[in-house]
Amino acid sequence: MAKPSAQQFIDIESRLGAHNYKPLDVVLSKGEGVWVWDMDGNRYLDCLSSYSAVNQGHCHPKIREALINQANRLSLTSRAFRNDQLAPFYEEICALTGSHKVLPMNSGAEAVETAVKAVRKWGYEMKGVAEDAAEVIVCENNFHGRTIAIVGFSTDPMARIGFGPFAPGFKVIPFGDSAALEAVITPNTVAFLVEPIQGEAGVIIPPDGYLRRVREICTKNDVMLILDEIQTGLGRTGKLLAEEHEGIEADLTLVGKALSGGYYPVSAVLSNREVLGVLKPGEHGSTFGGNPLACAVARASLKVLIEEGMIDNAREQGAYFLSELEKLKTNQVKQVRGIGLMLAIELHTDAGNARSLCEALKDNGVLCKETHEHTVRFAPPLIITREQVDWVLERVDQVLRAAP
Ligand SMILES: *Cc1c(COP(=O)(O)O)cnc(C)c1O
Repeated sequence: MAKPSAQQFIDIESRLGAHNYKPLDVVLSKGEGVWVWDMDGNRYLDCLSSYSAVNQGHCHPKIREALINQANRLSLTSRAFRNDQLAPFYEEICALTGSHKVLPMNSGAEAVETAVKAVRKWGYEMKGVAEDAAEVIVCENNFHGRTIAIVGFSTDPMARIGFGPFAPGFKVIPFGDSAALEAVITPNTVAFLVEPIQGEAGVIIPPDGYLRRVREICTKNDVMLILDEIQTGLGRTGKLLAEEHEGIEADLTLVGKALSGGYYPVSAVLSNREVLGVLKPGEHGSTFGGNPLACAVARASLKVLIEEGMIDNAREQGAYFLSELEKLKTNQVKQVRGIGLMLAIELHTDAGNARSLCEALKDNGVLCKETHEHTVRFAPPLIITREQVDWVLERVDQVLRAAP
């Protein structure tokens, strides 16, 4: 029988799957480092890194080894019992991030939900907010995941229209505007939830000093600062956590995505104050959260990130990549921006859409994904070499030149 073709798989997906994504028509079957291969053996350099979940590169051998070893021993205990991977995971991630408490979950959205629950409870028990009056402040154009509570405080019509009614208790302010934060805080405000750099919004970098100012305002008003570092964290911006660029510490830090090197959904709420201390047995949980397989994979993912110098490499290659992208500016390009290996090209609105640029890049061996109509993000694995950056740039240049 003939081997099924990529087109057959695309047709089956289309027939049987919900159409909640609009992927590029490339059916991948293998990955190694920065490279992925499709079913027909064509090779691509991955400039999305699964939305930054494979910062360590595809199928990193040491993470794979940790996964296989642990899979051979013990996969899941539930938190009804203890397991011998959880404590070492706690110790290692706390030491690395300077956190005092950890709550492990699976997806990023679950980490966000967990943080919102924890700060609400903290507000009632520690800050003395009246029952059901707690407010959490969020930013316009945020992306924190896809659950009902989270899409309820999204400002993206696609994310929210048709999914209501939504949970109350959230207030939206402009991103990058610390005065707006100060103005909206009330005695009922328990937390400010923000991405250090807005990833899904198109790599939006706030003004210098924004997070420092936000930190001061939160401290002054006894408001918990929750940084969603699910995308910016774990080396992506050239620091372990993006908060380090401004020398601040959040009260709660959310990590996910690359915490597993792409092998497995692992997320965590990290806390440097006693917010997580308010949770008592039975008040929150997850069957898979903190399971031994997840912990073993997360430990290996953190270890290789540090030991193999990936964070420094992200900083170096990112700076080079950005400066070279600047040089490629043609009249279609409105702006290039980024920090570390979290980069984006924004096209002029009349310059053809970002999707067609991504299609053309795909045909030239570079996988990127548009965010919104006019922005293309470049976020390769943090192990990318200078030669590989040049290889990508050459193709971006070609495609931009060929575009109408
Ligand atoms: C991806 C992402 C999430 C959601 O993570 P999931 O694992 O998809 O639920 C939350 N916040 C940010 C900033 C993200 O980039």
